[in-house]
Amino acid sequence: MSNDNHSINEFDFQLICEYFSSTDRQGPGSEACTLKAFSYLKDLPNNPHIADLGCGTGSSSLAIAKHNKVQITAIDLFPQFIEKLSVRTNQTILLGKIDTMVGDMGKLPFEKESFDAIWSEGAIYNIGFQRGIKEWYHFIKTYGYIAVTEATWLTNNRPKEIEDFWTDAYPEIDTLPNKVRQMEEAGYKNIITFVLPEDCWTKEYYIPQQKAQEIFLQKYMDNPTAQALITNQRYEAKLYQKYREYYGYVFYIGQK
Ligand code: SAH
Repeated sequence: MSNDNHSINEFDFQLICEYFSSTDRQGPGSEACTLKAFSYLKDLPNNPHIADLGCGTGSSSLAIAKHNKVQITAIDLFPQFIEKLSVRTNQTILLGKIDTMVGDMGKLPFEKESFDAIWSEGAIYNIGFQRGIKEWYHFIKTYGYIAVTEATWLTNNRPKEIEDFWTDAYPEIDTLPNKVRQMEEAGYKNIITFVLPEDCWTKEYYIPQQKAQEIFLQKYMDNPTAQALITNQRYEAKLYQKYREYYGYVFYIGQK
């Protein structure tokens, strides 16, 4: 890659980070669903140690820590998100509960069996579901948990437009029974799965982006990359409206 390309990529990357750190979530989900998923983690020790991988600006870590006695290590590749999460953890109710770290979910610097649970909402796709569940197994204590959300087909047949979009964006998208089988093959007992309700995509994710998009477009009026980024986000939201019965995010909770 030439230096020119490198700097263009870095610039795109800055823009993407700036856009996504202007909203509270970087993927579909909700506090209620995070807490619901957490309620299935039975018999955890007192003050369990949890890793939140691909934490973004921390919506899951914050939800869990606000309502539970836990020690969370929240990790994201992008320093901008980690900085924002560090500011958000600066509330009395959270003091000392969340440690933040810039790091790569594909190269975790931890000892074997360090965590009572590994959490990851809307992020495991970055290294791929099958690779993630296999590699992270090593870092989970015996009888510890994995809780991840993952893009999933909700039907066996899909219209071509949405099939093509997802196959291009994330070839590992698959049906729920296939994902459960992959978890079992990786050594986990399937505890529960549930489909995130539509408001996790709309009210919690796409609607808050609308305001952020206007501000961003104003600021980068003459920047074609920024304009293209927003066009792309709007297209994704439109596809969701059109095809939401065919796909969704599913919470997969497994036990080692
Ligand atoms: N869990 C958050 C963010 C989901 S978006 C939420 O639900 O709101 C996916 C996140 O994965 C982004 O914050 C992105 O920066 C992060 N990410 C991408 N690749 C990563 C990697 N290799 N290691 C750690 N984090 C990564």
